[in-house]
Amino acid sequence: MIDSLPPLRDVIATHDLQPKKSLGQNFLLDLNLTAKIARQAGDLSGCDVLEIGPGPGGLTRGLLAEGARRVLAVEKDARCLPALEDVAAAYPDRLKVINADALELDVLAHLTPPVRVVANLPYNVGTELLVRWLTPKEWPPYWDSLTLMFQKEVAQRIVAQPGGKAYGRLAILSQWRCDARIVMQLPPEAFTPPPKVHSAVVHLQRLETPRFKADAAVLSRVVAAAFNQRRKMLRSSLKGISPDIQSHLVAAGIKPTERAEQVPIEGFCALAREVAK
Ligand code: SAM
Repeated sequence: MIDSLPPLRDVIATHDLQPKKSLGQNFLLDLNLTAKIARQAGDLSGCDVLEIGPGPGGLTRGLLAEGARRVLAVEKDARCLPALEDVAAAYPDRLKVINADALELDVLAHLTPPVRVVANLPYNVGTELLVRWLTPKEWPPYWDSLTLMFQKEVAQRIVAQPGGKAYGRLAILSQWRCDARIVMQLPPEAFTPPPKVHSAVVHLQRLETPRFKADAAVLSRVVAAAFNQRRKMLRSSLKGISPDIQSHLVAAGIKPTERAEQVPIEGFCALAREVAK
């Protein structure tokens, strides 16, 4: 046992935390597993950890037991608050819980760097949060690393290389500014209730400067358009980006007849620079 708090099954029964599908609630109840996920984030002892969606607190307990300086846990479901208060009491001054929608809350005021983000994300908001964390205007961002659970297929899209079906917007936005690796794979039975899909934990370590120069908003727009019609040639899928797209592609060193999935990150960054000129 990693702490002296009750087992998570008892916590769920005591606080009547029947999992809700609408909130993406697939809970991790094995504290050895949550501690292992926490360890994938590296040394937490000098860090604030931002956790989105703590639920009954399994991963939160893993993070605290593994030595996080402080955890800021943002949970939308108010039913989970009493259980999380018990965790806060067991780790005095180290856990702050905010009852809010992570898509609405400005977390910066509540965090002191260095910050690591660790979360078993609700699948319905996971990708949206990831893209927001990856696309602030200024780089480096407020966080050092992201250690996040995703549906396995989404994890594969984050680490994908050019040339395959998984390569697209998520791979480019992730690997442009971070080193990204899959560090754990989890079967459906690891969760309660088990989801239909397999899951994987991705660790993204930010780079101090992006791999190639580009404006995040322009790159994001170009890549979204290119992969929205991924089987088309770029000169046609990117028509809406600029009337001069053909010459921008040539100036960026990309053949206008190329398809999006053949173009490496460097090519898209060069194109974003041309479009922004
Ligand atoms: N971390 C817990 C665990 O590993 O057992 C729970 C993970 S569960 C997959 C996702 C959690 O995110 C749920 O507790 C859910 O209520 C919460 N959640 C869903 N949408 C949210 C949002 N927009 N903002 C904050 N929390 C949210």
